[in-house]
Amino acid sequence: MENIKQTIVEAIQNYHTIIIHRHIHPDLDAIGSQAGMQRTLKHSFPDKTVYAAGNDEKSLLFINKMDVIPDEAYKEALVIVCDTAETSRICDQRFSKGAMLIKIDHHPNHEPYGDLLWVDPSYSSASEMLVDLFLEYPEVFRINKEAAGALYTGIIGDTGRMLNGKVSPRTLRAVKALRKFRFQPERIHNELNKKSSGVARLREAILRTFKVTEHGVAYIFLTEEKLSAYGVDQAEAANLVNVLSSMARVRIWVFFVEYPNEIRVRIRSRNIPIDDIARRFGGGGHAFAAGASIGSWKKADEVIEALNRKT
Ligand code: AMP
Repeated sequence: MENIKQTIVEAIQNYHTIIIHRHIHPDLDAIGSQAGMQRTLKHSFPDKTVYAAGNDEKSLLFINKMDVIPDEAYKEALVIVCDTAETSRICDQRFSKGAMLIKIDHHPNHEPYGDLLWVDPSYSSASEMLVDLFLEYPEVFRINKEAAGALYTGIIGDTGRMLNGKVSPRTLRAVKALRKFRFQPERIHNELNKKSSGVARLREAILRTFKVTEHGVAYIFLTEEKLSAYGVDQAEAANLVNVLSSMARVRIWVFFVEYPNEIRVRIRSRNIPIDDIARRFGGGGHAFAAGASIGSWKKADEVIEALNRKT
């Protein structure tokens, strides 16, 4: 493990252009780790060109805005992909056009890819992995306030605001180290708590209309029609997944969010592993937080039926 980090450090030192990717449907850890890496590298190596790749996510623009990257930039570039288990879910498929590819991820390594891989599911988040890397090589990496804020956002994103079981002494050490950079966590928490009135109304509607099976599987179908009635986009709606988490009788909860070409499935569970079901439907993820993309509402019924059989 020490060697892989050392090799990654050497690769970063060797390349002038570094392009950082992350997954589609980005969450706080995807954008936080990407931005934290970009800002730390820019601050540590002012002469290097460091890009953040992918589409902007409107609700997460307060963390980082993506760069426009010319195709030619990839030719001599080191590409680092953060927080993304599968190549099919890497946002901006030009990731494979670089001179060297590194995967840094905390999901189970079902699809190993890249010339170098640092994959360790014992970490809460990709952001926590990066903090560990940066702290281990203080002579190479200089974190700054902006990088620290992004990495903190990634960590609180994947730990349910530091409340879930993924928080370890190492996570606390990472947060302690980041806090020294004097970013304002309350600003970040305020941004995360900001909800448009449409999102607030949709939240209420979800709590009024969600269904629970007799096996304790709660679910809601969020069609494009429903989202547009509330003036809420898919990412904002998907972010509400944990509103179904607080009911005692609910053991597994699922959001089905309709996009133009797919239905995104977000599955969460208190303590029943559900990643095998996500994988059965072509997706993946962690034991208690997994997801998939399906093509029809009939498949959605099949997902619910499969989850019923887990409880
Ligand atoms: P999400 O519900 O989008 O936050 O996803 C939860 C976890 O499941 C993440 O760690 C993702 O890596 C994984 N995941 C979600 N959707 C997919 C998919 N279509 N294919 C593979 N993994 C997925």
